[in-house]
Amino acid sequence: MRYVSTRQASEAVSASQAIIRGIAPDGGLYVPESIPAVDTAFLLALCDMDYRDRAAAVLGLYLEEFTAEELRAITAVGYGGNFDDPHAAPLHQLDGDTAVLELWHGPTCAFKDMALQVMPRLLTASLRKNGEQRTASILVATSGDTGKAALEGFKDVPGTRIMVFYPRDGVSQMQRLQMVTQEGENVNVVAVEGNFDDAQTGVKRIFADREFAAALDERGYFLSSANSINWGRLAPQIAYYFSAYCDLVLAGRVQMGEKVDFCVPTGNFGDILAGWYAGRMGLPVGRLICASNANNVLTDFIAGGVYDKNRPFHQTSSPSMDILVSSNLERLLYCLCGSGEQVRGFMDQLSAAGRYDVGPDLRRAVQEQFVGGYCTDEQCAEQIAALWREHGYLADTHTAVACRVLKDLRAREGAARPCVVLSTASPFKFGAAVLAALGVVTDETGPALAEELAAFTGLPVPKPLAGLGEKKVRFDRWVAREDMPAAVAEFLS
Ligand SMILES: *Cc1c(COP(=O)(O)O)cnc(C)c1O
Repeated sequence: MRYVSTRQASEAVSASQAIIRGIAPDGGLYVPESIPAVDTAFLLALCDMDYRDRAAAVLGLYLEEFTAEELRAITAVGYGGNFDDPHAAPLHQLDGDTAVLELWHGPTCAFKDMALQVMPRLLTASLRKNGEQRTASILVATSGDTGKAALEGFKDVPGTRIMVFYPRDGVSQMQRLQMVTQEGENVNVVAVEGNFDDAQTGVKRIFADREFAAALDERGYFLSSANSINWGRLAPQIAYYFSAYCDLVLAGRVQMGEKVDFCVPTGNFGDILAGWYAGRMGLPVGRLICASNANNVLTDFIAGGVYDKNRPFHQTSSPSMDILVSSNLERLLYCLCGSGEQVRGFMDQLSAAGRYDVGPDLRRAVQEQFVGGYCTDEQCAEQIAALWREHGYLADTHTAVACRVLKDLRAREGAARPCVVLSTASPFKFGAAVLAALGVVTDETGPALAEELAAFTGLPVPKPLAGLGEKKVRFDRWVAREDMPAAVAEFLS
């Protein structure tokens, strides 16, 4: 299977090459030339497997250069003892129609681990397959959770170095502490003045700078990405939609073949896009409900077909979704319209004017499967309190946004269809907002908030978050956006 660029101005490459490059030379994102199809027999077989083998089976459909044994070895380690739940992505049934898919049982307590405990291993195997001698230098722009998950995934992986940029004013204290205390010999962490989009734009510019790449090449380095634009990030995410569906069938909640909606707290559109791929492959996916916070650019896009980032940027209690440019949307647009030229046009308009209009046909194609919705911080807090009160379920702010959007949609429709809500972070990562939502008044800050939340709820602080306050801060530097290239050059010297 070959991978093509969404802007169709670069050559097609193999899966391993797409993973090594991260982004195509024409600035587009790699997508598989065709989407593999599965049948009921495949789904039934998955039902009998544990999470690791399910993931390996789904990955195998996209990564033909990897043998089944190779992939099973990768997922066995990737979803092994580093997860605090043997099933890696367990389903928690909230009520008759609603299940929560918990994607935060990995080493950094956020769903990014689902991809980033596997992707570095896919990358190093890809480097071997392509005879690459240079050091892969991973550049990451993070809105909080990706950075830590990428650092943890790449820490001391031979043949790689990793540098993470995070918005100085855009991550929680817990997220910052997780990153600046990161261990490992091949890692670096720098704050950038501005918000996530500033950091992401800065990283994209570095990737697009050919002179910069040539200078690095002379020193034995090449740049790659661990952001959700890398196909190696997206592919492992497809697996948990399959796994959740199998678990619903096994629990007798749905009949094999019956459609299930998925409600996804969305930022860069990677998580929800994986669900779209799963549906295209033949998993009975009903609607994909795209849940946003006050940065509701996707809600408006799905409703009206106009993507317009010219709007105030809000810092919300769900910071991993504080995004105005959702990079992975480009993949959906390409798959729906099939024209790299058209996609290039949209992206050119986005960088020139900050907006584009996909027109009625493409808008309808998006609306066939996607529904958008958003909620405010206040509504999110109400939802956290309601989930705790009514179900004894503790949700983080991102998950609560999705639950609230689903609740509002069901109220509008006056009916409930079976739905899986993707839960993307441990509530202990966002202790301040969660405690406030539960009505607990506290003077504590940082890691002490997790302890306080544990005391209030009787639930344990996840191991990776306990004791963060005592760890040594290794990285306390910040730069302006225009100084990001110099920081990279210094790290890779
Ligand atoms: C990254 C992240 C999201 C958004 O996922 P996308 O793939 O960027 O849409 C939502 N919630 C949490 C906790 C995250 O870390």
